[in-house]
Amino acid sequence: MPMWREDVLEAVRGIGGIGTLTAIYAAVERRRDGPLPVSWQAIVRRELEYNSSDSASHQKRHDLFRSVHGIGGGVWALREVALDKDEPTERREVTVNRIIRDTAIVRQLKALYQDVCQVCRKALSAKDGATYSEGHHVRPLGGVHRGSDTEDNILILCPNCHACCDLGFISFDETAILWKGSHRVSAANLSYHNKELTRPGVR
Ligand SMILES: [Zn+2]
Repeated sequence: MPMWREDVLEAVRGIGGIGTLTAIYAAVERRRDGPLPVSWQAIVRRELEYNSSDSASHQKRHDLFRSVHGIGGGVWALREVALDKDEPTERREVTVNRIIRDTAIVRQLKALYQDVCQVCRKALSAKDGATYSEGHHVRPLGGVHRGSDTEDNILILCPNCHACCDLGFISFDETAILWKGSHRVSAANLSYHNKELTRPGVR
């Protein structure tokens, strides 16, 4: 029996502890290999609500999630603060694990762009000259999205722009993206992101 609760928990943790439903769906999808049940997005919402004392559906066994803007607001976060209601809010250090898959094509593109982000055109770099970037699959791999691991579906991004894309805070304008050589992401994949994976109101 797959543990949806664990998957949703790790998915939210993996996107930094807070995210829109769209971003949480994408993160759950990345965690799960193989076909998902037809109603999987409803299952994800159910797990968020069953395990959140903010919800009328709370099952009262675990209180893992916080509905950031209230139920129906579409944004969920981990309830990292202790369950003791009298405890004042305090600063906590949390460890965030992000699983970044590096395929051969991603590695080639990172080399082509020399880790320069295609959105903000900056490269994360250290004093010793080391640079870092991440490959973003514009149309997510597998699941309901059925994106492909091909260069017409991959952007090289800095971690910040990558997180913004995953959270739906960025929409793509092909003419504003940095392109090198013959590398282009297809218009179909860019518009898929803009239509399906961008927060309402983001242009
Ligand atoms: Zn960037």
